[in-house]
Amino acid sequence: MATQEPSTTAQLTAHALDSALAPLAAALGDRLLTPAAAGFADTAAVFVGGPTRTPAAVARVRTADEVATALAVARETGLPLAVRSGGHHQARHGLVDGGLVLDLRLMDGVDIDPAAGVGHAGGGVLAGAYTAAAGAHGLATGFGDTATVGVGGITLGGGIGYLSRRDGLTVDNLLGAEVVLADGSVVEANAGENPDLYWALRGGGGNFGVVTRLDLRLRELGTVTGGMMMWAPAPATLATVLRTFAEGPDEFAGMVNVMVAPPVPMIPAELHGTPIIMALLCHSGTTAQADEALAPLRALGPVFDGVQELPYPAMFEGAGGPPPGGIGDARTGFLGQGAWAPDEAWAADVIAAISGAGGPAAVNIRAMGGAIGRVDPAATAFAHRDPAFMVTVGKFAPAVEALPAASEWVTAKAEELGFSGRGYVNFMGTATEQDVRNAYPEATLARLREVKRTYDPGNLFASNHNVTP
Ligand SMILES: Cc1cc2nc3c(=O)[nH]c(=O)nc-3n(C[C@H](O)[C@H](O)[C@H](O)COP(=O)(O)OP(=O)(O)OC[C@H]3O[C@@H](n4cnc5c(N)ncnc54)[C@H](O)[C@@H]3O)c2cc1C
Repeated sequence: MATQEPSTTAQLTAHALDSALAPLAAALGDRLLTPAAAGFADTAAVFVGGPTRTPAAVARVRTADEVATALAVARETGLPLAVRSGGHHQARHGLVDGGLVLDLRLMDGVDIDPAAGVGHAGGGVLAGAYTAAAGAHGLATGFGDTATVGVGGITLGGGIGYLSRRDGLTVDNLLGAEVVLADGSVVEANAGENPDLYWALRGGGGNFGVVTRLDLRLRELGTVTGGMMMWAPAPATLATVLRTFAEGPDEFAGMVNVMVAPPVPMIPAELHGTPIIMALLCHSGTTAQADEALAPLRALGPVFDGVQELPYPAMFEGAGGPPPGGIGDARTGFLGQGAWAPDEAWAADVIAAISGAGGPAAVNIRAMGGAIGRVDPAATAFAHRDPAFMVTVGKFAPAVEALPAASEWVTAKAEELGFSGRGYVNFMGTATEQDVRNAYPEATLARLREVKRTYDPGNLFASNHNVTP
């Protein structure tokens, strides 16, 4: 299949653009938005702010046929294409300057089939909506920790969250998918049909097609013990918190943020503006098992303990997180293997990094292990199965002009804290060729390229951590 060299609106005259978009306008009506349309700016925004990127048009598709029509327009005009689901990727993959954005958010159907133990999600469903629908049946599929993240993006990149140590990554629970390929054909990908595509979708991101339906394994889950706990910033405390997660049972998971304490009532006033250790945790076993796992954390004397028994979907409500539109950058990587945990010296360096950040910043640390590590690295395109911890450092910038300084800071801290190199594609703030090599070990990348040559030889799907054919 031949794809033209990407053009942009700068190269297409207004008249040529109108006629190029005509088939899409006929199919979508007012669901095709150009910059003059009311609501365009809001529709064309993604979660992470940054330098202005103005698409030529946003196509709010509802069906696989409409996706195919939009892909034909991109193919025939050479307009650069971005596929957008929840719009949360830090590298802002869901926005393309002068190109066509395929907005999947109206593909928001969720169908929970308790008898089959499978949940079906449209390509634009958000993690919180799916979790609430599954929770109504006492069932769950693990995603991350944030309701507004798209099921499409988190699943295609990996999916690390509250249930990963118990049930595996989200990719380990992806049973199949409906995919619209670059040539407009609609195929199924699962263990029996197009198994090479099915392998690539489980970690290879949006490189291979538009996923219009995801079939996800459901597990029984009613209430959990979870919520937020915070401690004053001492290296020994941070090291103990991390060791408790690393050595804890598979049912026990969460993330630890070292960040500057905001002036909120739940944090003692004397800690406002200083680094604080904040954990969002979840134990999916019995309350007695949870109490046992949490005992070492409670013995550290938290300054705030909001951990309680609650329905699993409530973990996704009011979890906070950064506000939309924030400008910043992040670097991510892995540390250690097995049940290893960082020592006090490393913990002290993390706290010192945040103390000296000179503005809003955070180091986010998640224990991996458990079921994540029991999967063969060759079984899915997410191949980083052995790390003990995933670490991400992020820094906000007050304005676009301050972004280069934030980028420089996060790059330096990732090196100083020893986790630069291989990393998780869904947390990468940049999308260079080196980032792609960091996301995928050599053998994985070679196999992804082979699959790319089969399903998208013209590299129509390039607004991502791009696997070139
Ligand atoms: C506040 C916040 C919290 C987060 N928490 C977690 C967490 O706990 N665990 C975790 O693992 N990750 C987490 N993430 C990272 C998140 O998984 C990635 O940002 C993910 O890519 C977001 O998916 P999206 O659909 O929202 O984003 P988008 O930017 O819309 O999509 C990301 C990429 O996936 C592709 N894509 C998305 N949907 C489809 C589809 N249906 N078909 C084809 N391609 C598609 C897009 O083209 C794009 O390249 C978090 C991010 C944020 C901002």
